[in-house]
Amino acid sequence: QWIMGIETSCDETSVAIVKNGREIASNVVASQIESHKRFGGVVPEIASRHHVEQITIVLEEALNQANISFADLDAITVTEGPGLVGALLIGVNAAKAVAFAHGIPLIGVHHIAGHIYANRLVAEMEFPLLSLVVSGGHTELVFMKEHGHFEVIGETRDDAAGEAYDKVARTLSLPYPGGPHIDRLAQEGEPIIPLPRAWLEEGSYDFSFSGLKSAVINTVHNAEQRGEKISPEDLAASFQQSVIDVLVTKTVNAVQEYKVKQVLLAGGVAANKGLRAALQEVFENSTDIQLIIPPLSLCTDNAAMIAAAGSILFEKGIRSTMALNANPGLDISIHN
Ligand code: ATP
Ligand code: MG
Ligand code: FE
Repeated sequence: QWIMGIETSCDETSVAIVKNGREIASNVVASQIESHKRFGGVVPEIASRHHVEQITIVLEEALNQANISFADLDAITVTEGPGLVGALLIGVNAAKAVAFAHGIPLIGVHHIAGHIYANRLVAEMEFPLLSLVVSGGHTELVFMKEHGHFEVIGETRDDAAGEAYDKVARTLSLPYPGGPHIDRLAQEGEPIIPLPRAWLEEGSYDFSFSGLKSAVINTVHNAEQRGEKISPEDLAASFQQSVIDVLVTKTVNAVQEYKVKQVLLAGGVAANKGLRAALQEVFENSTDIQLIIPPLSLCTDNAAMIAAAGSILFEKGIRSTMALNANPGLDISIHN
């Protein structure tokens, strides 16, 4: 079984070929970070234009690297949402064109389902499982009792974890995207600056990071006003510790309540060294719970994860029609 994945939801143009849902034959990612950097964030119109320019090149490169042709493909899977509508449209229309021209089944995939299924490229999924999704636009705990069943048991009420990382990085004058820079600084500092942790109501699996983000910004501004120098390393370490404490504690609580067999880390912030280490430490001695963490290249946006999720839909017989459209607000819980 050969599945093509196409991902254009944000600022990465990516096409991948995945064999049997688990083996990456190719995973080509053209990043636009350099073009968005000077604006300090992703500019939707620029993202769309880059996708248009890149999609055909990336698609051909993915087929070349996998050493297959269109005739070998069993399905074209594509991110239909959520994401930037103009960016999504490029991928969806490329997928429809290829599917129509070559008579290949077309399957729309949820972007966050893709992030979760990146883990299937590492190890076989065993249910029930819990996924901690931490990305640029999402922070949620997703319970899965079987393939295609996504129950969001907690989510952020304001900023996503990645968003908080990027905003804090901006306050420290670090380049976009700031997550990796904060991560690097945090390794060199000590978490000695007091910052809040938003636990919310007893038993809640929801998250909130805007208070923490504001506390970091206030700490920097207050220090500036007093003419004091604050250590960016210590501030990064303190911020990162606060984020990790809440993410890990809520994940552990949910693991206990939902009695899951696996914990899957997913999304761009899954690339965070501190978070990876903290989760590994918590679950390393557990005999009944398996922790899966994708390699860095599968944490941030890529099309192999879309093909991995799409492969399950393909096996279930789920197909999209030529009426498939970009859906920037696509809900994961109603996705098959
Ligand atoms: P979504 O998946 O919610 O639609 P997105 O696709 O834009 O959003 P991803 O590509 O999954 O987001 O992740 C990008 C985010 O990951 C950015 O906010 C970036 O700063 C963050 N990130 C990447 N590497 C790290 C790291 N090492 N530590 C912390 N954050 C990181
Ligand atoms: Mg991105
Ligand atoms: Fe993403």
